[in-house]
Amino acid sequence: MTAHDEDQPGDEPASDPVASGATPPLGSALSPSVANRLAALLAAPLAPGLYVVATPIGNLGDITLRALAVLAGADTVYCEDTRHSRGLFSAFGIRQRLRSYHDHNADAERPRILAELAEGKRIALISDAGTPLISDPGYKLVRSAIEAGHFVTSLPGASALLAALASAGLPSDRFLFAGFLPAKQGARREAIAGLAGIEATLVLYEAPGRLADTLADLATGLGPREAVVARELTKLHEECLRGLLPVLATDVAAREIRGEIVILVAPPPASSREVGDELIRERLTAVLAEASLRDAARILADELGVPKKRVYDLGLALKVQD
Ligand code: SAM
Repeated sequence: MTAHDEDQPGDEPASDPVASGATPPLGSALSPSVANRLAALLAAPLAPGLYVVATPIGNLGDITLRALAVLAGADTVYCEDTRHSRGLFSAFGIRQRLRSYHDHNADAERPRILAELAEGKRIALISDAGTPLISDPGYKLVRSAIEAGHFVTSLPGASALLAALASAGLPSDRFLFAGFLPAKQGARREAIAGLAGIEATLVLYEAPGRLADTLADLATGLGPREAVVARELTKLHEECLRGLLPVLATDVAAREIRGEIVILVAPPPASSREVGDELIRERLTAVLAEASLRDAARILADELGVPKKRVYDLGLALKVQD
């Protein structure tokens, strides 16, 4: 997990209310009405239990008032990397006990947390960024706490997958979040084959160093579907690259993409009628650069699942136009 972008000098989001200047005490940087609301939340007693708290994915302004109140009021806050989360806490003037709960110590720490819950403590769980449990630790703890009969609740907030889906412009009525694909190519291709028939927008997390390879495998396994690479969401260098998978794969292979990345892929076309002429023309233009019209018609009929004659006729019209 990489650090919050605001930890890196010169990359603070311009809109971040606390990115510049000295750390204010909790509430002093807020408007009176917001500060009053926060004061009321801080004064309300917290019930004993486990609070799963979302934190920003890059822009400190995305912390919620309830998150601040729970983080300030909990007996212990568990996080992945204490040094990292201390940065978030100091930005908001929260002086709170932080203990680490991450993939490598979770099995050892869980009994301690369950014992604290059994004593009636208020425990908050955060991750380095975004929503815990979403490609981050926490599932086993939540499950164990529920099984032990403790109060468990979540405080919603930032998550890269929803931020990406909300701005990608791809169908959002049905989506499948598949986390990180396997790093090894064989396993990755197998995983992609398993996703190919799913009639939903696919949402994936990926590391920048593997982006080009993953896009190439997605293009091979899923064909020329519309896709979006959403990068550095909520941060200064936020960017969305949009295009057909094969085109995006080629573009990304030709330039260095850095930062944190979400890949989104449109659902498969329900039938060949849903493959628009525009898409066929776009693919024809690329394929005709290297193949005859007859071959291009065969290749794209297979790739797009449309009749060969339809591709041929559109290709003929393109040639006449040229
Ligand atoms: N729990 C987090 C959440 O709710 O989104 C995700 C944690 S996962 C270990 C980290 C991955 O989330 C990154 O490698 C990247 O794929 C994605 N991610 C996190 N922050 C992001 C951002 N600001 N922009 C784009 N992707 C981001």
